[in-house]
Amino acid sequence: MVRRLLPLTLTSSPAAWTASLEAAGPTAICEAVEARDGGVCRFCSDPHPIAPAPLHLDDDHAHWAVDNLATACLLCHAVQHLGRVTADEELLLIWAPDGISQAAINRTVRGIHGVFAAHGQPVHLGATPTDDTPRLRAAYRAYQALADLAQEATAWVKTSSPHAFGASLIEVPARARASDLANLRLLHRGRFFRRGVDVYPQLLAAASPKA
Ligand SMILES: [Zn+2]
Ligand SMILES: [Zn+2]
Repeated sequence: MVRRLLPLTLTSSPAAWTASLEAAGPTAICEAVEARDGGVCRFCSDPHPIAPAPLHLDDDHAHWAVDNLATACLLCHAVQHLGRVTADEELLLIWAPDGISQAAINRTVRGIHGVFAAHGQPVHLGATPTDDTPRLRAAYRAYQALADLAQEATAWVKTSSPHAFGASLIEVPARARASDLANLRLLHRGRFFRRGVDVYPQLLAAASPKA
């Protein structure tokens, strides 16, 4: 069965701002969502999603009903969690000139992280790779091209901080739907913090099919 992808929109609401991206809901509900979605991310269609969790479609993180939940990978779920205190270390705001979708960016960046991990390089791409293969070079260039789009996003929203941008959306909720922000996207930086420790490499490894 081919399912239509659900849309991904950058949102910021008081209800979600302090809610955990990894909050555990009622077990029976979560199991029903997982069974219905077959463990596939409903937003980017990743069949091996990183740290999959139910995303609240109405953004109300207290509303645990099967119809209000859809399986999301960590990269897709991030659009609702700019309130994370580590959001600025985990994400970049970028400007998608051709309107490339958030889902397409997430699939691309997941592939880039996979290439880096396969080469034993840090997946946060904070440094030029110490190895040099055509595949690694192509992945690094692709990531740099995406990261370069951060400058334009900063010019539009007047901040380079996803966290600060999210806070501004709470003050002016209608802003999120404004057409001048329609090309704003998030670029995952290959980091995810649990209690101060970056666990993204382990989450990526756990989600990757074994060779
Ligand atoms: Zn959430
Ligand atoms: Zn996804």
